[in-house]
Amino acid sequence: MGRHISGERKTAYYLGMGLMILGGILFASTFVTFAMRFGDFSNFESNAKSDVFRAVGGMALLFVGVIIRGIGARGLAGSGVVLNPEKARQELEPYSRMAGGMVKDALEEANASLGTGAQKVVMIKCPSCRKVNEEDSKFCQECGREI
Ligand SMILES: [Zn+2]
Repeated sequence: MGRHISGERKTAYYLGMGLMILGGILFASTFVTFAMRFGDFSNFESNAKSDVFRAVGGMALLFVGVIIRGIGARGLAGSGVVLNPEKARQELEPYSRMAGGMVKDALEEANASLGTGAQKVVMIKCPSCRKVNEEDSKFCQECGREI
């Protein structure tokens, strides 16, 4: 549960994105046609109606697109449509896992670079002269006593 973003959510994401683009184009087209008609007041009323229709329709499409895309990206609960903190956590999991994975990778990289330089050498003290010898040496470097 929540490990993968479901196909439905991917579809919703792209559908929302499509609506946003469509709405944006529709909205922007009113400026283009307005500029093209500049100074031409024939059919003013019907043109104005068409502009308002496209501007409002475009904005509505854009708005709906943003919501649908948000649902697709973060799930119903994750995007705040459904108030369910536990479900929201599950639906956002792919994202938090992604962030967590990046932190983990960074930590492992840091450890790897530290590990090469800081190889731990175990030392032991000679029982008679207290000279510190490497663990694998058989005889004390100072007094020659068997360790
Ligand atoms: Zn010794």
